[in-house]
Amino acid sequence: MDQNYSFYGSVKKSFEKAAAFTKFDKGILEQIIVCNSVFSMKFPIRRDNGDIEVIEAYRVQHSHHKEPCKGGIRFSENVNQDEVMALAALMTFKCAIVNVPFGGGKGGIKVNPRDYSAYELEKITRRYTSELVKKNFIGPGIDVPAPDYGSGEREMGWIVDTYQSLKPGEVDNAGCVTGKPLSLGGVRGRKEATGLGVFYGIREVCKNKHLMDKLGLSLGVEGKTVIVQGMGNVGYHSAKYFRENGAIIVALAEFEGAIYNPKGLNEEEVFQFRKKTGSILNFPGATNIENSSLALELPCDILIPAALENVINAHNAHNIKASIIGEAANGPLTPEADEILLKKGKLVVPDMYLNAGGVTVSYFEWVKNLSHVRHGRLEKKFTENINNTIIAEFEKISGKPLGEKERRIISKGPDEIDLVHSGLEETMITATHEILDIWLKNPEIPDMRTASFISAINKVATMYGELGIFP
Ligand code: NAD
Repeated sequence: MDQNYSFYGSVKKSFEKAAAFTKFDKGILEQIIVCNSVFSMKFPIRRDNGDIEVIEAYRVQHSHHKEPCKGGIRFSENVNQDEVMALAALMTFKCAIVNVPFGGGKGGIKVNPRDYSAYELEKITRRYTSELVKKNFIGPGIDVPAPDYGSGEREMGWIVDTYQSLKPGEVDNAGCVTGKPLSLGGVRGRKEATGLGVFYGIREVCKNKHLMDKLGLSLGVEGKTVIVQGMGNVGYHSAKYFRENGAIIVALAEFEGAIYNPKGLNEEEVFQFRKKTGSILNFPGATNIENSSLALELPCDILIPAALENVINAHNAHNIKASIIGEAANGPLTPEADEILLKKGKLVVPDMYLNAGGVTVSYFEWVKNLSHVRHGRLEKKFTENINNTIIAEFEKISGKPLGEKERRIISKGPDEIDLVHSGLEETMITATHEILDIWLKNPEIPDMRTASFISAINKVATMYGELGIFP
């Protein structure tokens, strides 16, 4: 990778390309792309062997146009300020695209979690949280972190516990972070949200006849071949929903290598195999690909990079054979790759829209925390009672009793998981149509990424304009 490459610079470049299609004031556009606050910190922790180590970490609040700010915390040895700024900016646009009322934020801790014990990671996470509290960089109305690469429910649990101990009696304090375990105020459906959102987004795109005709593909996801890079939270769940809905997962890639089976792979079996053996390689019935990144270049209909940024770049973009590239990870394509793929007639479905499922369900979790009631608790029984009355009337009029299965399906009131999944589905469908409306009605807009940026810029700039926000 080019040493001078700037991820934030690449986001800015895409933003400017889209901004040129809008008529907003130059100053407003500049205000939208700059990062509002950048908190860079260093703190010490004692390692298990007694050594003291200084940890480097960041929290960036990209936009305060809506508060709180929202975005995950990445645990990776590659974390740097430029990367966190880029990811925070993408969060602003992502939230606007899916109509989630937050400004963008992002955190990063420069550690490889594999090199630390659980106790050391707990100390790092708790200290990071207290640094955020000290500087007023966290809180249900200020800035609300979430999981990202290298972090999950466990870390979010440590964050909420630390925050609550420092802010006792703050009635909404569970809303200081999302992606928490259920027992600490999490919401059902958060874990799979990003992968499920990726599936809903691609499914919606595959329903568009104009786009599918252009790519020479049939309508729908069923029967399409899919390759997924990264078997973490996002990759695993993306693969699961594609497979469950009739797509064929022909290859899965992890950092130690990739496996290929044209007859199809089951992500859960591969996950269990990797857990047992420590590697994805040598999975029964599959062919090994020692150089993992070559899996990206295999023929397939849909390629889902769900690991890290810059994996498709000027060096390998020419070799990509997939017709649709669904950016489940943040920034997996460089701008150079974007241009190459556009020329090759590929459809790139961009990250800041496609992987917005996580932040959408995080929003549902935050709403749950502020309302202090589980989604569905108030309406479940009420809906069931109404449905049963309707069924009884129907049976009376028709003289035909319903079968047990139909009765169960029709009478059921919504559980939290039903509401979260349907809220996510609705969100991804609406966002897809908003973007496609902008793109397909304006032939000069070159790609879906530019259309997504335009959708976001329109919403954020309009808000700034209407607020008359500048003194
Ligand atoms: P994760 O840590 O759960 O999983 C990432 C996986 O990628 C790991 O299994 C890792 O071993 C694998 N990986 C690393 N380098 C690789 C390589 N070179 N080739 C193949 N596999 C490799 O992380 P995640 O939460 O699934 O996040 C993945 C991406 O999705 C990141 O870009 C993140 O910013 C983005 N994202 C995550 C969420 C979320 O809700 N977790 C939401 C939006 C976007």
